[in-house]
Amino acid sequence: MLNRRHFLQNSIAASAGLSLSSPLLKLIFQNAYQMETLRNNVGIFTERGGTIAYMITNEGIVVVDSQFPDQSKHLIEEIQKQSDRKIDLLVNTHHHGDHTAGNIAFKGLVNKVMAHENSKLNQQRSAEAQGSLDNQLLPDTTYSKGKIREKVGGERIALHYSGAGHTNGDSFVHFENANIVHCGDLLFNRRVPYIDKSAGANITNWQVVLEKAYKTFDKDTLMVYGHSGDGYEVKGDREDLLAFQNYLGKVMDFVKKGQAEGKTKEQLAEATEIPGAPEWKGGQSRAVAAAWTELFEE
Ligand SMILES: [Zn+2]
Ligand SMILES: [Zn+2]
Repeated sequence: MLNRRHFLQNSIAASAGLSLSSPLLKLIFQNAYQMETLRNNVGIFTERGGTIAYMITNEGIVVVDSQFPDQSKHLIEEIQKQSDRKIDLLVNTHHHGDHTAGNIAFKGLVNKVMAHENSKLNQQRSAEAQGSLDNQLLPDTTYSKGKIREKVGGERIALHYSGAGHTNGDSFVHFENANIVHCGDLLFNRRVPYIDKSAGANITNWQVVLEKAYKTFDKDTLMVYGHSGDGYEVKGDREDLLAFQNYLGKVMDFVKKGQAEGKTKEQLAEATEIPGAPEWKGGQSRAVAAAWTELFEE
């Protein structure tokens, strides 16, 4: 479906003499969503915000992350075309709005909402600060460390936590029989990451989290990512975990070395590439700023 959409976009752009970034084209495609089955009735939904994973069978329905309300409504409509049953489980990989704002669309339609306890606290705190608690559907089932497992239909869904990374409440969500893992924003595939220091992110431990995940999952595991850079997919295999771990380590080295040479945070933030990790292209300011904070200000 992804390819088909790009094909359509390209052909429409070409025949109308439009550039791919034209506002008109964006208007035509702003409501386009894609669903792609990966394995064992587990697939991914992409429209706006962090990638959603779903499982739809006659024995159970699971959704991981919820983008925004309109996007979740699109997915719910698709689910209801295939099944009359209530949605068994909604999981949030972490609290950010591009992964949880759509939770509210599941109100009354889902039996259980699961996340790490810090994800719930962060979601609650952000919503209170914005006065939007009424628009949230918060997790009702949480865990604090290690792993929690839920059986839905013939599938087992395990959430794994090994401490702070992108925030202090990110889970890897493993469909164990399908052997598909939603990494949420623990993996930005060849895209400069957001590192949320205001919610307890930790770059040093993030590298440990990725290493552990590499050992926990295997070479057949299909990985799903919240976000990817231009030309890269929101799915892959566990080797991407090590590539991203390398990037994070190189960002820390770059900032440490730069500071020792007398460079300021602002000077380092101008970098457009990190030595040793050229695939993460573009402005590095937010990663550099987070590394500086972690190394010299915490
Ligand atoms: Zn995200
Ligand atoms: Zn995020």
